[in-house]
Amino acid sequence: MSYEPSVVESKWQKKWEKAKAYEIDLKAAKNPYYSTVMLPYPSGDKLHVGHWYNYGPADSYSRYMRMKGHNVFCPMGFDAFGLPAENYAIKTGVHPDESITNNVGTMITQLKRIGCMYDWDKMVNTSKPEYYRWTQWLFLKMYENDLAYRKDANVNWCDSCQTVLANEQCQDGTCERCSTVVQQKPMTQWYWKITNYAQQLLDNHDKLDWPEKTIAMQKNWIGRSEGCDVSWKVDGSEIILNTFTTTVDTIYGVTFAVISPEHPDLEKIVSDEYRDALSTYKEAAAKKTDIDRMAEGQKKTGVDTGASLVHPFTGEKIPLWIADYVLMNYGTGVVMGVPAHDQRDMDFANLYGFTIVQSIQSADGKTFVYDDVDKYNVKGSIIDSGEFTGMDILEGRKKITQELEKMNMGMAKIQFKLRDWSISRQRYWGAPIPIVYDPEGNPHPIPEEHLPWELPRDVDFKPTGTAPLAASKELLERTEKIFGKGWTPEVDTMDTFVCSSFYHLRYLAEGNEKELIAKDIEKKWMPVDMYIGGPEHACMHLIYARFVTMALKDFGYISREEPYQRLVHQGLITHGGVKMSKSKDNVVSPDAFVEKYGSDVFRMYLMFMGPFEGGGDWSDTGIKGIDRFVQRVWKLLGEDSDDSNDSDDSNEVQVKLHQTIKKVTEDIEKLHFNTCISALMELINLLEKQEGVSSDTASTFAKLLSPLAPHLAEELWEKVGGKGLVIDESWPTYDESLCVSDTAVIAVQINGKLRGTITVDATAAEADVLALAKEESNVAKHLEGKKIKKEIYIAGKMVSLVVS
Ligand SMILES: [Zn+2]
Repeated sequence: MSYEPSVVESKWQKKWEKAKAYEIDLKAAKNPYYSTVMLPYPSGDKLHVGHWYNYGPADSYSRYMRMKGHNVFCPMGFDAFGLPAENYAIKTGVHPDESITNNVGTMITQLKRIGCMYDWDKMVNTSKPEYYRWTQWLFLKMYENDLAYRKDANVNWCDSCQTVLANEQCQDGTCERCSTVVQQKPMTQWYWKITNYAQQLLDNHDKLDWPEKTIAMQKNWIGRSEGCDVSWKVDGSEIILNTFTTTVDTIYGVTFAVISPEHPDLEKIVSDEYRDALSTYKEAAAKKTDIDRMAEGQKKTGVDTGASLVHPFTGEKIPLWIADYVLMNYGTGVVMGVPAHDQRDMDFANLYGFTIVQSIQSADGKTFVYDDVDKYNVKGSIIDSGEFTGMDILEGRKKITQELEKMNMGMAKIQFKLRDWSISRQRYWGAPIPIVYDPEGNPHPIPEEHLPWELPRDVDFKPTGTAPLAASKELLERTEKIFGKGWTPEVDTMDTFVCSSFYHLRYLAEGNEKELIAKDIEKKWMPVDMYIGGPEHACMHLIYARFVTMALKDFGYISREEPYQRLVHQGLITHGGVKMSKSKDNVVSPDAFVEKYGSDVFRMYLMFMGPFEGGGDWSDTGIKGIDRFVQRVWKLLGEDSDDSNDSDDSNEVQVKLHQTIKKVTEDIEKLHFNTCISALMELINLLEKQEGVSSDTASTFAKLLSPLAPHLAEELWEKVGGKGLVIDESWPTYDESLCVSDTAVIAVQINGKLRGTITVDATAAEADVLALAKEESNVAKHLEGKKIKKEIYIAGKMVSLVVS
């Protein structure tokens, strides 16, 4: 009888559930290992291949860690607040709470079919009052500790989503959600002071086992620069303007300065004859977005203020101009112009006729712009700069800073690009900000006893640019009843990235209503040992969660300052070489394939496509190769095992078995599941040629297969007479002395084109090598539907297939 996945898989899912196989006693666990994935949004579209590719392999790794002797905790939850449910409500009138509850139900059913080790008892849903009570509690703690504040500022506005976006949510000037061009709009918003943690966010990178690229992206986003704040006296006035520069060594090359049109001192500085030109210029600037103003290659514009600044060393008068490429909310709103050594300044000087004065030169005596060199490691000397002339650039930079400090005209300073996190959203489906306003409009935190501060139900979802909560009669009445006549509620809700910044703690809290998390449990389980999810979160969720964890530690609620110790990003599964999307009509729906081949085959096929972090290209036919492998395993070790005598293994089998254990162990640690599967295929090829397979070998095979194909492995384990569950067994060990053998990397060509490589034992028989070559996923893809006319094996080197 062939292997019937639908029967076997539901059988084991029921058994696991009945045995509470994946429920973890958080208190009693001896050897904790916390393995989790970025929690999904419960959309109505069901699980797609991307979800599977995240969760299946993550589960395989967790299963391996469990067999290595850890108490592995794998929770699952839903990031359930946010726009899609609200947009759906606008379209259909179905309340978000209703559609989300439905979607969560559907997704749980689908997730259970993957057969992951989820501990469902500890599930969280961020849109439920028992969860968002803690989102609100977090806001109150931020407020108490001066990390939450309200400010009027130009904010990023998405006109399509009708809400404010954080800087992290604007990608190349567009909304990360809907790609609408982001506008600037002045509004009063709540911010969290993530900037207080800028240095710590950088320093801790060294302690994390994270992909280098992700760390580099965060470093760039945080954007630390060391420099000097220089004070400039406005000529004929008491006003002092500050400029921040990372290259104060060029201060003798300053020939003009530029001020932002929004600078608060501008009105006092500008001379009367220039006032009209200024207001015209300001009006024009107000119509442009920050992104347009800063864009490189954009034509720069400027107007004279009529005023000038006094050079702190030479006393020379430096003309002060207004230009909109200087933004008020970045830096000090004033920059010094060094046209000889900065490309943008040079362009501006050429446009408006400022002189260009060289003040540094490279080691070989040439002039250069800082755009072309690493400014913190530059070699060269200072020229034509008074007492600093002749000094090495870096040394001179230090001396000039010290001199300015002595004169009280400047100081060394470290500046970051990172801005505070704007957390207010003018939408309905989010956690209400726990703030009320007295009749004078002053904000007051809502006392903890009133949490959860519930999201009202009596609202119209239609976005109008003002928050839907403003229309709730119930919310207003509730506020007045508790706080008094004339008091009003805050009507913005929180960014959903707040909800997901601490959920890994709530998984561990098991519904604890008294505290965010019990201290002993947090100390035991945190940080998350293995965290797997998409790389697109590098500068959003992964920065926010780190900041919130650091803050909670400083407030004294937790002991760790980093949430995720090891981070892995799964690759992308493409289809036909391109990203799956509805518009390209190339989306693969897992359900039909899972129905036909079973969850184990589907998961293994995804893992077999390539290295986990590299992803792969889906092919409807490629999955058949894995299906054939599963059927062969079943035929050899499942179906026939009842009547096979317990035979002894040949030496060749012993060696191969130990080599396979070694290979699978080492590769699974690196999450190279594809080569684990290849190794198991090789072993099966050899076993198929034996008279019989010993029960030891069969049970070891079941154990090795268990992380990759958990249902099939349980069934095999039962067939070979194993007691209990195979997932409760220890991971097999290997004898190193048996593993020594030469391997060879074989190139596989089809019609003269390289289509893949396989690694085989140098002594492997020709037939085995040929069989293996044809199973290689890319090769299999190119063989599909073709007829093999000729097969050549050049021992230890190459397989060449000729097809028509
Ligand atoms: Zn948008």
